[in-house]
Amino acid sequence: VSFWKDVPQGPPDPILGISEAFKRDTDPKKVNLGVGAYRDDNSKPWILPSVKKAEDAIYNGKGDHEYLPIEGFDAFNTSAVKLAYADCPAVADKRIAACQSLSGTGALRLGMAFLKRFYPKSNTVLVPNPTWGNHKTIAKDSGLDWKEYTYYNPANYGLNFNGLVGDLEKAPDGSIVLLHACAHNPTGVDLTHAEWDQLYDLFAKKNHVPFFDMAYQGFASGNTDHDAYAPRKFVKGGKSILLCQSFAKNFGLYGERIGCFSIVCDDAAEKDRVMSQVKILARPMYSNPPIYGAKVVSTVLNTPDFNKQWLADVKTMADRIINMRAALVDGLKTCGSTRDWSHITKQIGMFAFTGLKADQCQRLAKEFHIYMTMDGRISLAGLNSKNVNYVAEAIFKVSN
Ligand code: PLP
Repeated sequence: VSFWKDVPQGPPDPILGISEAFKRDTDPKKVNLGVGAYRDDNSKPWILPSVKKAEDAIYNGKGDHEYLPIEGFDAFNTSAVKLAYADCPAVADKRIAACQSLSGTGALRLGMAFLKRFYPKSNTVLVPNPTWGNHKTIAKDSGLDWKEYTYYNPANYGLNFNGLVGDLEKAPDGSIVLLHACAHNPTGVDLTHAEWDQLYDLFAKKNHVPFFDMAYQGFASGNTDHDAYAPRKFVKGGKSILLCQSFAKNFGLYGERIGCFSIVCDDAAEKDRVMSQVKILARPMYSNPPIYGAKVVSTVLNTPDFNKQWLADVKTMADRIINMRAALVDGLKTCGSTRDWSHITKQIGMFAFTGLKADQCQRLAKEFHIYMTMDGRISLAGLNSKNVNYVAEAIFKVSN
C-alpha cells in the first residue's frame, strides 16, 4: 500500500496537450503550429551544418564521458560570455560570473534561486504580461512571488510601451524585472533599440534589477549582435545584469540542455564571491551539468571556420521564419482577407500572436486540422512552402 493516495491529478501542460492532439489526428493535411522548435521546409528537425562539423571533429571516438566541474566546461562558459557580451568592458575586466546551466530553463532556475538567497530587498519578480508560462512557475518554485507589468497591446498586436514604462516607474525602487532580450515569447513583440535606451535610463534611475532571458540570440533577426543589443546596452551603461542564455534554438541543441547563467559584478573579487555561491546553489540541484552540448557549442564558437558556418546557419533559420511570416500574410491577402495582418510581419522570432480568438483556434483544429495554443499564438517554424497557403486559407475562413 503506497503513501500517495491523496496526491491529486495535476493539469496537463497546455503545449504538450496540443502535440498530443496533433499526433492523434490522422488527416494528411494536419499542421502543428504549437511546436516551439525549428523545423525545415519539410517539417523536419534541422541539424545545423556547423554543429555536425563540430560533432565530427570532437566525437569521432575521441570524446570521453568524464564529469565536468560544478560550473561546467570552462571553454564553453568563456565563449558563451563572449557571444552574449562581446565588447562590453566587463568581459576584459573579468568580472562576469558564468555558470553552465541546464539550458535556458536551468539558467532561470539558478538565477531565481540566487535572487531568493541574496536579494533580500525584494521577493517578487516582475514579468511581462504575457510571458512564457514557465517564468511564473520557476519563480514560484524558487520561493519568489511574481507580478505582471504591462507589455502587450491587444489593440494593435504590438507593444504598449507607455504602459510598460508606467508600470516600471510605479514599481518600488530596486524591483527585480524579467526582460526578454529578443524574440519575446509568446507575442513576438520586441522593443526597438531606441525603446531599450529609454528603458535603460528608467532602470538606472529606479535601480531596478535587470534579469534578462535571452533564449533566441541570433534566431530573431539572424544577427547575434543585433539580438543582444539590450543586455549589452545595460552592461555598458554600468548596470549589473543577470543573464540566462539558451543554446537550444540558435544551435538546434534542444535535448542537450545547454545554457549559461551569468551575473555582471563590479570587480573580479566580487565575481569570485558570487561564483562561489552560484556553485553552492548548483551542487545540490544537479551536481554538475552535461558535457556534450558544452563541447559542441564551444568547438563551434572557437573554430573560425565552424563559427562562420554557424553565423550562416543562424541566419538560414531566421530568414526562413521571416519569409514564412511574409508568405502567410501574402496568402491571406490572396484569399481576399481585408483585415490588416501586418503585425505578423512586424513581430519577430519563433512565434506570432495572430489575434485569433479561442473559438477560432478551436475551429482551426476541428475543421482544418491546424493546431495551436488557444491564445492565438502560432509557431512560424510549423509553416513551410507546402502548407502555408492552406493555413492562410483556413485562417481566412475562420476570421472572416
Ligand atoms: N525562455 C523563453 C522565453 C523560452 O521561450 C524558452 C523556450 O521555449 C526558454 C526560456 C528555455 O528553453 P530551454 O530550457 O529549452 O533552453
